[in-house]
Amino acid sequence: MRLTAENLTHSCGKNPYSCLSDPPKRANNTRIKYLLYQSFWALLDWLYPPACCCCGKPYARICRSCLAEIQPLQEPICDICGLKLAAAGTCLQCRSASRSYRALRSYARYKGVLRKALHHLKYGNDIALGEILARPLGSMLETLCWEIDFIVPVPAGIAHRKNRGYNQSGLLALPVALQIGKPYRTDILFKTGSNRTQVGLSYTERWQNVHAVFSADPRKVANRKVLVLDDIRTSGATMEACAKVLMENGASQVFGLTLAQAFVD
Ligand SMILES: [Zn+2]
Ligand SMILES: [Zn+2]
Repeated sequence: MRLTAENLTHSCGKNPYSCLSDPPKRANNTRIKYLLYQSFWALLDWLYPPACCCCGKPYARICRSCLAEIQPLQEPICDICGLKLAAAGTCLQCRSASRSYRALRSYARYKGVLRKALHHLKYGNDIALGEILARPLGSMLETLCWEIDFIVPVPAGIAHRKNRGYNQSGLLALPVALQIGKPYRTDILFKTGSNRTQVGLSYTERWQNVHAVFSADPRKVANRKVLVLDDIRTSGATMEACAKVLMENGASQVFGLTLAQAFVD
């Protein structure tokens, strides 16, 4: 099924960001785990009342009016890489060069509120934002109907983990895994090399920068269908590099999902 703004809603018809009371129907134990996870963050909000990371309004990590500004990407998009197209189909690049991933999708454009919120999550130690920002991704996966065995975050390097103490992709991937009832795994895909930041690099430089940076455990990935989750997709180079190493180590299929899509204009 194709992703459209119309079908990316909960059963109540609301935008997934604004609907907390009616999560998608799940097995009871899955639903309970997710509700417990949400309750943990709600308890922290009660103990330490937050302010909206975008407008400063009190008592919300991101207020309702700011969340309403984050709108899902619209079709038509490329069947494989998910980039905007004039008409439905496969883009020229995906037709001329094979992709290691089966499909790559993003939720919303990297701008405005989403850009600011992800900046807080990534650089501002505002880790509670992960749970709220990840909410629409579970609904999105239901709509996409991808068959997956587990979810892995794009791993962070050792230097990154030492400096920040957390991986922002993991803070998004864990609540998504709880939402859809799939295992969250950090013991499969690793960042073993070091690359410089992707910011400011050209399209070609991004591809070269992430080449051979990742590794995967063949014993755990063989014949499995993997969803790789990241915060932002720019050129798609990071997702391609992750998918390539997973496929080389025996994965049967790799899908990619990012919260935001930054366009290379
Ligand atoms: Zn706000
Ligand atoms: Zn494409």
